[in-house]
Amino acid sequence: MDIQFNGKRALVTGAGKGIGREIAVLLSQLGAQVVAMSRTMEDLTSLQKETGCEIIQVELADAEATRKAAEQAGPIDLLVNNAGIALLQPFLETTVEAFDTTMAVNVRAVMIMTQVVARGLIARKQPGAVVNLSSQASMIALKDHTSYCSSKGALDQLTRMMALELGPHQIRVNAINPTVTLTPMGEMAWGDPKKSGPMMARIPLGRFAKPLHIAQAVAYLLSDQADMIHGVTLPVDGGFLAN
Ligand code: NDP
Repeated sequence: MDIQFNGKRALVTGAGKGIGREIAVLLSQLGAQVVAMSRTMEDLTSLQKETGCEIIQVELADAEATRKAAEQAGPIDLLVNNAGIALLQPFLETTVEAFDTTMAVNVRAVMIMTQVVARGLIARKQPGAVVNLSSQASMIALKDHTSYCSSKGALDQLTRMMALELGPHQIRVNAINPTVTLTPMGEMAWGDPKKSGPMMARIPLGRFAKPLHIAQAVAYLLSDQADMIHGVTLPVDGGFLAN
């Protein structure tokens, strides 16, 4: 199969580091004109140098700024809602601030971003594809991940809702649910060998994911080769959820 996105504009959120950066690089290599959004300007300028992408700096916890950034991106064919945060706290100590911020970035920003992109596609009578970066944490409970697990559970449901209502416009919407992936976030949450050992032992393939594993799955779901795949939450988890 030969995946190519020549002539397509792809918006990737959280493209500064980790999985989002890998996705932005891969989509550029596959011919897309990438619009990269993130928070830290240095990350965006270095990505622009590397790929020739367009860049937009935004704080996705801010609903109005998110809407403006989505509009600033112009016409978009392919959307990857990748940006996410993980603020780890035990359930009894989970704060309202951490919970609200997590929901704002991991769920609300996805809704706003997709509304703007989908309205543009519908107005232009064009088909499109959206992939949301969820997590295995949407389907199981992980210690100290109350806000994160709740947000990813909500994101899976948001994915199904968007699939239901955007499908008739030929806008496909899917989610990818990775296991621990070796990125700055993955290091923060799982870098301690006391945590990483037991987690890896629960993965039948016996290894964590690399950002490229996730980027390749995203590229497939965005491509015409996945033309009939819609509304799924696809684990890329080495078998963790089958265990
Ligand atoms: P990283 O923390 O390594 O990178 C996240 C990127 O998103 C950074 O560039 C960050 O910018 C940007 N970002 C975060 N919050 C905001 C915000 N409020 N506004 C704008 N940009 C923001 O994360 P990963 O690459 O590891 O994760 C990417 C996605 O994959 C997330 O949705 C995550 O939940 C999911 N995932 C990750 C797993 C893992 O183990 N790594 C496992 C399963 C799912 P900055 O650095 O400037 O803040």
